[in-house]
Amino acid sequence: MRSYTIREQRPEPEEFDVDFALHGAETAAATAGGPASRWAARARPGDRLTVLAPAVEDNGGVDFRPPAGTDWILITGDETALPAIAGILSWLSPGTRAKVWIEVAHEDDRQQLPTFADADITWIVRDEAAAAHRESVLDALRAAELPEGTPYAWVAGEAGTVKAVRRHLVRERGIDRRAVKFTGYWRRGATEEDLIAELTAGTAASEED
Ligand SMILES: Cc1cc2nc3c(=O)[nH]c(=O)nc-3n(C[C@H](O)[C@H](O)[C@H](O)COP(=O)(O)OP(=O)(O)OC[C@H]3O[C@@H](n4cnc5c(N)ncnc54)[C@H](O)[C@@H]3O)c2cc1C
Repeated sequence: MRSYTIREQRPEPEEFDVDFALHGAETAAATAGGPASRWAARARPGDRLTVLAPAVEDNGGVDFRPPAGTDWILITGDETALPAIAGILSWLSPGTRAKVWIEVAHEDDRQQLPTFADADITWIVRDEAAAAHRESVLDALRAAELPEGTPYAWVAGEAGTVKAVRRHLVRERGIDRRAVKFTGYWRRGATEEDLIAELTAGTAASEED
């Protein structure tokens, strides 16, 4: 079982879209990715999947919840978070100020992200051809001038990057830690089973305390 974002859902006919980032698929060893990436790389019309998904629109999986009094939105993520970022941007109220940094593997991974928000979107391309200009989300964020007022930050993507971005926002930018929603969507060198096992162990440990 692997976690994915429902990018869009339609009632008639009943359909939803999932965007899979195909890690490992472009290397000679197409098996380098995990089961989800491998499945998506070979998927053909008619293939079947078992899906566990929420049945109501406002559900526990919706973790973008800026509190009242938020002046502007800060978002960072990679290609795995792109479907969620697209959803967030399409949902923001007209004129909401948003600063967004998205790291993707290739130039072609850039997408149109329709929004009514006043969104300033920075794309960071990891493309090898652009290696000379390589800049991580964290470097870009460090160099950025942030708006005045009270922010709400939503941070997702590779767990190590997410942790570093959160630390920067809280420690160096002085953003209230309760206003930073952060989620490791995957971790370099760890499968999703590994991550869930860690989370479960963490929960068990805190229940024992
Ligand atoms: C709430 C949530 C929503 C998510 N939504 C999406 C989504 O909409 N689209 C999407 O593509 N992903 C999404 N992800 C991330 C996705 O679940 C992980 O990338 C997942 O690990 C992929 O499963 P796998 O079977 O391909 O690889 P796994 O078996 O989990 O891992 C195998 C190896 O691949 C590496 N790996 C895993 N993911 C990546 C990656 N993206 N890039 C490079 N190496 C990787 C791991 O570190 C590991 O070494 C989401 C995760 C969460 C928690």
